[in-house]
Amino acid sequence: MPAAYAAALALGVIAALANIFGGLVLTGRSWERRYLRYFVAVGAGFMLGASLLEMLPESWKLAPASTPFLLLLGFLLVHFVEHTVTSHFHFGEETHATEYVGGHLPVAVMTGLGIHTFFDGVAIGSGFLVSAWLGWIIFLAVFMHKIPEGFTMASVMLAAGKGNRAAVLAAAAIGGASVAGVAVMLMYPVSLPQALPFAAGVTLYVAATDLLPEVNREPGIRMALGVFLGVVILAGLQLAFRGR
Ligand SMILES: [Zn+2]
Ligand SMILES: [Zn+2]
Repeated sequence: MPAAYAAALALGVIAALANIFGGLVLTGRSWERRYLRYFVAVGAGFMLGASLLEMLPESWKLAPASTPFLLLLGFLLVHFVEHTVTSHFHFGEETHATEYVGGHLPVAVMTGLGIHTFFDGVAIGSGFLVSAWLGWIIFLAVFMHKIPEGFTMASVMLAAGKGNRAAVLAAAAIGGASVAGVAVMLMYPVSLPQALPFAAGVTLYVAATDLLPEVNREPGIRMALGVFLGVVILAGLQLAFRGR
């Protein structure tokens, strides 16, 4: 078991570094941003598959009676913190600077996104408590949206008039929340039957309502096809590696 704990923590840190990298993509302006869009599309498909085909069936085995309710609760929690407590939030570059003038909105976005990223970490920790296979699949699902997530956080800070340093620090802070999520999960493994379906609901929400709308805004079918590619990649990994 200690090996699984070490793997979960290490991958949590890598996920957090991807948040920081996403922030640097925005502030550095050196990387090709159009690649980010494909991460969003492929990540959306992969996350949908991971939540519905992997996290949900495993949750069902652990706690059949409470799993549907906890899935819905996880889904609604992110809706609450990202779009109810936070009055303006969406994935992708923040271009609505007028929303941000003189308000507390960047703090609200960082808090809402930080709660979501905390459960990204809980998801990775939960996965490794079930099996190395599930842990790695959830890590990949998280990793694929971490760079756009960090990019989004940094762009909110810039729209609010903060500097590049604050933007990258904010991306690092939400990454830190993911590492905390992994650590909390490993410290309280007894919560696994509740944490896994809840995290599946969070993953489903991020894929379906944070990422897919960004895919659908793009003209043409390339981004839309990227979603299917994400599902195909998951299915390929299942065929190649799932030992059942
Ligand atoms: Zn906006
Ligand atoms: Zn996330």
